[in-house]
Amino acid sequence: MTDVAIIGGGPAGLFAAERLAKAGLKVDVFDRMPTLGRKFLMAGRGGLNLTHSENLETFLTRYGAGQPHLEAALRAFPPDALRDWAAGLGEETFAGSSGRVFPKSFKASPLLRAWLRRLGELGVAIHTRHDWSGWNAEGALQFETPEGQVAITPAKATLLALGGASWPRLGADGGWTDILAARHVEIAPLQPSNSGVLVAWSDIFRDRFAGQPLKRVKVSAGGAESFGEAMVTRHGLEGGAVYALSASLRQAAELTVDLKPGLTVDDIAERLARASRKGETLTNILRKTLALSPVQTGLLREAVGKDLPRDPAALAKLVKTATLKLGGMAGLERAISTAGGVAFRALTRDFEMKALPGVFAAGEMLDWEAPTGGYLLQACFATGAAAAEGILARR
Ligand SMILES: Cc1cc2nc3c(=O)[nH]c(=O)nc-3n(C[C@H](O)[C@H](O)[C@H](O)COP(=O)(O)OP(=O)(O)OC[C@H]3O[C@@H](n4cnc5c(N)ncnc54)[C@H](O)[C@@H]3O)c2cc1C
Repeated sequence: MTDVAIIGGGPAGLFAAERLAKAGLKVDVFDRMPTLGRKFLMAGRGGLNLTHSENLETFLTRYGAGQPHLEAALRAFPPDALRDWAAGLGEETFAGSSGRVFPKSFKASPLLRAWLRRLGELGVAIHTRHDWSGWNAEGALQFETPEGQVAITPAKATLLALGGASWPRLGADGGWTDILAARHVEIAPLQPSNSGVLVAWSDIFRDRFAGQPLKRVKVSAGGAESFGEAMVTRHGLEGGAVYALSASLRQAAELTVDLKPGLTVDDIAERLARASRKGETLTNILRKTLALSPVQTGLLREAVGKDLPRDPAALAKLVKTATLKLGGMAGLERAISTAGGVAFRALTRDFEMKALPGVFAAGEMLDWEAPTGGYLLQACFATGAAAAEGILARR
């Protein structure tokens, strides 16, 4: 008989398992996939960005509307604690020039391997290929396994750490929403976050420029703006600068790109006016006077949908405010994270579901979102730890 059943073997569930097992509880982790931590490993592909080194007060603001609900958990398990934990598993971390924190190896796999070894030593039992389908008539947790149905009743508590719905092939597909909604748990609809946007490029632009970056741009939508890099894809734009606007982009019909955030419209118009006198093509003028690359000039053409204006003032304005019509956000299949999830008002301060006493929730399945930069994993670890503390505090 187990004390605590944890369903979901991603960072939130595994971190709770470690806390609970260290406190002496018998812990069983269940996951539908053949191996654990698949999204964590995927996160490691691009260089695992574990957390961020900025000042904690600034760090907390990155969670926006989620801050009041996550703050206690993040203060109890802040970025330095996560870095110490990784170091304890043999993965020293460093902060890059942007403040983002990575393991020195950049990878997730050595960390996950060492972590699973530690969990084994702590006596945590792992059950893969156990697909949770809800509670049976007797109130036991029910799993579909290759050997048939299995029912489990933990003595103390259950922790759901089922993730969001992005990259569903990695295991988390949001299928739990129906199970919990039927049990009167309030759930905000799952939506893509840190996701690309769809733009109906012309065939010429798509074929020539998909895969090329727009560097050091400012993008804005719905009153919010961000700086950084955007990447042209066959279906639109993605990349850090775009992801940072996720909350605004979900409602926006347009995205405005400023290709020269360091220059004013007047600066640009003056440079263009001086160059125009030399009678060169606009593409050459834009390259020589503003160092615009072919993809950037192509983007200006996409924004106007016809020839570029020859008038320096009009062209300068376009360089600063190239506005693209959006066809919405790219789907959840390729989003880095999920917005929406179990509403905080459905939870106690200990992350226990009010409608389901003894059932806790943690990680990306809760209704918060944050930009990329290590904020996602940090909150998954911190809420996993907080839910574990809540379980320990339960009589
Ligand atoms: C491409 C990519 C790159 C990323 N890079 C970063 C990064 O660098 N930094 C960062 O902070 N974040 C990053 N993230 C986000 C981060 O990986 C996630 O936020 C984090 O893994 C969520 O942790 P979790 O434990 O809540 O859920 P998950 O890691 O999704 O784990 C949930 C687990 O639950 C299991 N499960 C779901 N439903 C069931 C069920 N019914 N029965 C049994 N098991 C079930 C799943 O199989 C899965 O193993 C990235 C995400 C992606 C997709």
